[in-house]
Amino acid sequence: MRTCIGCRRCLPQLQLVRFVLGEGAELVASRVAIGRGAWLCPDQRCWDVAVKRRAFTRALRCAPRLPATYIEAVSKSGFRDTLCAD
Ligand SMILES: [Zn+2]
Repeated sequence: MRTCIGCRRCLPQLQLVRFVLGEGAELVASRVAIGRGAWLCPDQRCWDVAVKRRAFTRALRCAPRLPATYIEAVSKSGFRDTLCAD
């Protein structure tokens, strides 16, 4: 179980998307990348809350460059293993 950094719900890892710091402090979605991760529901609302609260900065101990939307962040990463938002 992991906590979504947006809504703070505790959910199984498979229901969350893991973000890590990529090259140039860009935020990328990856389940396998080594290092500190930030977990988020696949939901634009959770993304917005996380961005507003600077939750990524807190979770990753570094201020990442953030795409405007959750979808943008995920598609940029070429992340396929993503659940649809309900
Ligand atoms: Zn959430």
